[in-house]
Amino acid sequence: MSTLLIRNGTIVTATDLYKGDVFVDGDRISTIGTALTMPADRSIDAAGKYVLPGGIDVHTHLDMPFGGTNSADDFESGTIAAAHGGTTTIVDFAIQYKGQTLHHAWETWMQKAEGKAVIDYGFHMIITELSDQVEQEMDALVRQGVTSFKLFMAYPGVFMLDDASIFRALLRTGQNGGTICMHAENGGVIDVLVKKALAEGKTAPKYHALTRPARAEGEATHRAIALAEMAGVPIYIVHLSAAEALEMVTEARDRGLPAYAETCPQYLFLSYDNYEEPGFEGAKYVMSPPLRPRETQDRLWRGLAFNDLQAISTDHCPFCMKEQKELGSGDFSKIPNGAPGIETRMSLVYDGGVRTGRISLNRFVELTSTSPAKIFGLFPRKGTIAPGSDADIVIFDPHRSMRLGVQTLHMKVDYNPYEGREVTGVTDTVISRGKVIVDGETFTGRAGAGSFLKRSTR
Ligand SMILES: [Zn+2]
Repeated sequence: MSTLLIRNGTIVTATDLYKGDVFVDGDRISTIGTALTMPADRSIDAAGKYVLPGGIDVHTHLDMPFGGTNSADDFESGTIAAAHGGTTTIVDFAIQYKGQTLHHAWETWMQKAEGKAVIDYGFHMIITELSDQVEQEMDALVRQGVTSFKLFMAYPGVFMLDDASIFRALLRTGQNGGTICMHAENGGVIDVLVKKALAEGKTAPKYHALTRPARAEGEATHRAIALAEMAGVPIYIVHLSAAEALEMVTEARDRGLPAYAETCPQYLFLSYDNYEEPGFEGAKYVMSPPLRPRETQDRLWRGLAFNDLQAISTDHCPFCMKEQKELGSGDFSKIPNGAPGIETRMSLVYDGGVRTGRISLNRFVELTSTSPAKIFGLFPRKGTIAPGSDADIVIFDPHRSMRLGVQTLHMKVDYNPYEGREVTGVTDTVISRGKVIVDGETFTGRAGAGSFLKRSTR
């Protein structure tokens, strides 16, 4: 077991901000104080820098099959990129395909991560078919630390569940303590609009967005919350993008319902305008839900500031333009859905949120680490800087700038949606369970060093 002393930094949690030293013994934080003098195997001077709890990204899709191809990052390249960006924990999605058990899906995804992940990871379970047996499996998975389940109201015939199945799954979490995460878009309406657009010869990438109206997200968000209300359980809306959906969450929270939602950097920094880029460039931004009108960004920032939105995750699901996004060059509905983001979240949100005064530094930590840790059963092991917590620590330089781009980033994808954008506020040193895994520009971690996290129930 080695020891590490981080000196002179400004320690920031969701509630605190003070100058101090952090002493790490083995894989946990041991002592916090001022002018600590204990001998350590390594000492890092963090003067002028922030000492933050490692980022927690609860929405990633590594090594995920979609439309005949696989997302471009596997658990090794994806978690290395996450680490460079200051994220030390991910929660990815294991998919139950029709006819399969949840356990089969879980084992499949455990194997994908095993020996590869460089940071700690957990899984949400995607349920695409619900039966009595699957409901029993939900209970068993909760006991094994897979305490959240994702359901889809979109992608009919592939992922979509009907309202009865959604309601049954919600009721089940009332007994087993799990949490339901919802992809809230009205899949039936979208399917009709997609077929209609294609029949009219509208095949360009922008029609992906034009066939997924904001109201389809608003309607499904409202329905998801209403179903959870009738079941008497909390609900977590994933990748909320539309003002119409935020209104539904806000209204529910105002009535005292335990409705939670995350948004993602792409909805805060990109907009529908990106689909109007020339040629096939719009395909870079094909994701679901789609990018929304620019005015929506301010609404989402306000939701983040006032706690109507509780987390910022990435929905990292990268596909290369070459050979992957190209699958939809003559038909937008065949473009693999998703974009890279696992590495750029912390710097984008710091630069665009904290530096502009939209959110406080504490709120930044809360949205990117503490709150997702609490919602998904990882707190206080993760999500804060406190004695006894895992030593997942980011030393963050608020003054250094970098230009985002495919040349400088580590995600295994041939474009970046923020290409050329300059951000101020960059990860300096990243520590995962007491080990330095990113030292300046250099990755010093090891494939397979990340562990599966058994998460607790609410
Ligand atoms: Zn997703």
